[in-house]
Amino acid sequence: MRKWFLASAFILLSGCSFSGFGASDTQVSEGTNTKLAYAQNWTTLEVGKDQVYQGDLVLVNREKAIRPEALPDDIIRLGEHPELTEGFALLDPSLELSKEVALKFEQMTAAAARDGVKHFRISSGYRNNSEQDKLFEEKGPDYALPAGHSEHNLGLSLDIGSTAGGIDQSSEGKWLKKNAWKYGFVLRYPKDKSGTTGIQYEPWHFRYVGLPHSLIMKEKNFVLEEYLAYLKEKKTIFAKANGVHYQIEYVSVSKKTDVPVPAEGRYTISGDNSGGVIVTVPLKEAA
Ligand SMILES: [Zn+2]
Repeated sequence: MRKWFLASAFILLSGCSFSGFGASDTQVSEGTNTKLAYAQNWTTLEVGKDQVYQGDLVLVNREKAIRPEALPDDIIRLGEHPELTEGFALLDPSLELSKEVALKFEQMTAAAARDGVKHFRISSGYRNNSEQDKLFEEKGPDYALPAGHSEHNLGLSLDIGSTAGGIDQSSEGKWLKKNAWKYGFVLRYPKDKSGTTGIQYEPWHFRYVGLPHSLIMKEKNFVLEEYLAYLKEKKTIFAKANGVHYQIEYVSVSKKTDVPVPAEGRYTISGDNSGGVIVTVPLKEAA
C-alpha cells in the first residue's frame, strides 16, 4: 500500500463532493502540460527496484505474480472496526482488508447511502496465500487463481455483494458500475474485457487503484492491463480530474533510478509490477 508522500500541507481530494460530476469532466492528454509543470519546483528521488513491485497500481493476474514487496502492511480485520463498517454488512466478521481501502470503501458506501443505496455487503477481502491455496484447490483453475496471482492477496480488492439480491441486478451493483470510479475503485473484470484480463465477467470484484487513475481508466475505457501499457507507451500524461490537474509519469527502473518528484506538495509512486514506476503528481495552478 503506497501512501501519499506529504512534503507540505496540500489538501487534495478529501472531503470533496462529487455531485454532478461525470466521466466527461475528466480530460486526459498525452505529454506534459509545460505551463503547469514549469510552475512547480522539482527535485529527484532515488527509487530502487523494490518500488516496482508495490503500490496501488501493481498489476496482478494469471501471468503476473505478487512479489513479497507488495504484501500490504495495513491489513485489518473488519469485524474489529465497527467505525469503518457502519455502512455495509460483512459476510464474515473475520474478513480482512487494507485499512486504506476500507476507509475508501466506507466513504463510497456513505455516498451511495445519500443516493438511497445502502445494502452493500463485502463477501471477500484480503486473502493470504494459504487461504488462496485452499480456494484454488476447492474451485479449480477455471474459477480461482493460484496463490500469489489473485488480487485478493494484495489487500486492494474486494468482492461486493448486495443483501437485497444478486449484485448484477441490484441497486448496489448498478450504483457501483456508475460511481465506483469516482472513489478510486474500478470494476476489474468487465464483461467486454475478458480477452484482456483473462477473467470472466465478475460484477462483484472491485479493485482499488486510487484517484485520478480510476477516473482516467473510466474515461478511456481501460482495464488495468491496458492502462499500464498506455502509461508505459506515452511516458507522460496530463489529466484534469475533478478540477485537479495531474501529471502522471511512467519511469523505467533498473537498479537505482532518479525519478522527478515535486519539491513540495503531495505525490504518489506506485510500481507496475513489471519494470517501472508511475509517479502521480497533483499540479498546482500556474501563477
Ligand atoms: Zn474477487
